[in-house]
Amino acid sequence: MFYESTRGGLKSVLSAEAIKKGIAPDGGLFVPETNVKLTLSDIEQLSGMSYQERAVYILKLFIDDYSEEEIKDCVYSAYTKSKFGCEEIAPVYKLNENVHILELWHGPTCAFKDMALQILPHFLVKAMNKTGEKNEIVILVATSGDTGKAALEGFKDVDGTRVVVFFPNKGVSEVQRLQMVTQEGKNVHSVAVEGNFDDAQSGVKTIFGDDELGSRLNSKGYKFSSANSINWGRLVPQIVYYFSAYADLIKNKEINSGDKINFVVPTGNFGNILAAYYAKEMGLPINKLICASNDNNVLTDFINTGVYDRNREFKKTLSPSMDILISSNLERLLFELTEHDAAPVRRWMEELKTKGVYTVDATIKKAISKLFWAGYTSETETLKTIECVYKEYGYVVDTHTAVGIDVYDKYVISTGDMTKTVIASTASPFKFNDSVVRAIFGEEAAKNKTEFDMLEILAKECGISIPQGLKGLDKKEVLHKSVCSKSDMKSKVEGILGL
Ligand SMILES: *Cc1c(COP(=O)(O)O)cnc(C)c1O
Repeated sequence: MFYESTRGGLKSVLSAEAIKKGIAPDGGLFVPETNVKLTLSDIEQLSGMSYQERAVYILKLFIDDYSEEEIKDCVYSAYTKSKFGCEEIAPVYKLNENVHILELWHGPTCAFKDMALQILPHFLVKAMNKTGEKNEIVILVATSGDTGKAALEGFKDVDGTRVVVFFPNKGVSEVQRLQMVTQEGKNVHSVAVEGNFDDAQSGVKTIFGDDELGSRLNSKGYKFSSANSINWGRLVPQIVYYFSAYADLIKNKEINSGDKINFVVPTGNFGNILAAYYAKEMGLPINKLICASNDNNVLTDFINTGVYDRNREFKKTLSPSMDILISSNLERLLFELTEHDAAPVRRWMEELKTKGVYTVDATIKKAISKLFWAGYTSETETLKTIECVYKEYGYVVDTHTAVGIDVYDKYVISTGDMTKTVIASTASPFKFNDSVVRAIFGEEAAKNKTEFDMLEILAKECGISIPQGLKGLDKKEVLHKSVCSKSDMKSKVEGILGL
């Protein structure tokens, strides 16, 4: 299997090279050159397997320049019961006859990013050996809150790598911030940026594209790579859990093999839902992919109109990991839908960069409407959903998952479609406990309380236990105190690396 850039500048790249580079030199994203197909009987086989076996089965189809032994090594190091706290790794919870929740947040940092970032460092270290890389890899990360911690945790003390994370200073929850600034490990750095996620992401992209800096870096024995979802090594592990959820539904006799199901995905950078799209293209019986947004509803508008317009106010919401106006992974979908024609993709990305807006043609728009349905959720609806789900089912969801549930309700009302549906749950309710406590117990319960008091309230009142990774976070020493402006990100990196 070879990979190519969505901008057409590079072809015939092996997965190890694509994972090591992160982003293609022409600014494009790597995608597989050929399709991978599974039959129904292949999918049925998965239901008798453990999560790890399912992962090996799917991953080896895409990263076939890794030996099966190497893939097993990665999978069994990443997805352990001790890190994920449960045997199933990504369990499916039955909410009612029609709706299942795919819990993707059992990993060490309590958000779905762990599903990919626990395994990416293993892919990367092997990629360096396979490609004879002698330089130390510097992972630059821009985060809306969850990726940063998951990357720090995944890469800490991994030889031959360094991580520098940039997060929006006022754009993350207190728990998220403390998770990052208290991170231990000899090779990790986190820096607060005075700006929002898009500022941090643009800053990182500019650093990646800086040739002069790149060559200075090289002469000092470093090389940049990315752990954002633009890296194929992040995307491919996410395909696994869509198959795994389907296999579990067969196993639990919720569906018959071949029955179509819907997936709802709370979406920001379009990585998670893109993995579901790849699963569908591979033959997983999926009816609709439902793209759920918060008030930053640029994707809702795009899917409904074919116009991607980022020229709008950036809103800080209760689901901050989805506060994004530039959904990078959409570029991969567009490249797939143009049947790998890079010319229009280049044009649209150029227009996005210069004017902040582009319009896809009618064929592409039609293809998108066939695959996706999109909706968004306001702040009050988010809180209301958390409350209703708790009152009706005794099940506690975080703000991002609540966006998914609310958009699913809107989908059912609008379409009448009663196909069984799996909603991706992307974070533990403990990670966004402030909103969750307010939603369920009212403003009074949250008055004069810190997020750490609220962890206790949530655990006690709802009878659920506080995840290991969040306990005692407020008592840990702050090790990373750097704050910088958008324009100083480059010099921060130079300072950290001693360039
Ligand atoms: C990152 C994140 C999302 C958005 O996922 P994308 O792959 O960027 O679309 C949603 N919810 C949570 C909790 C996240 O951390």
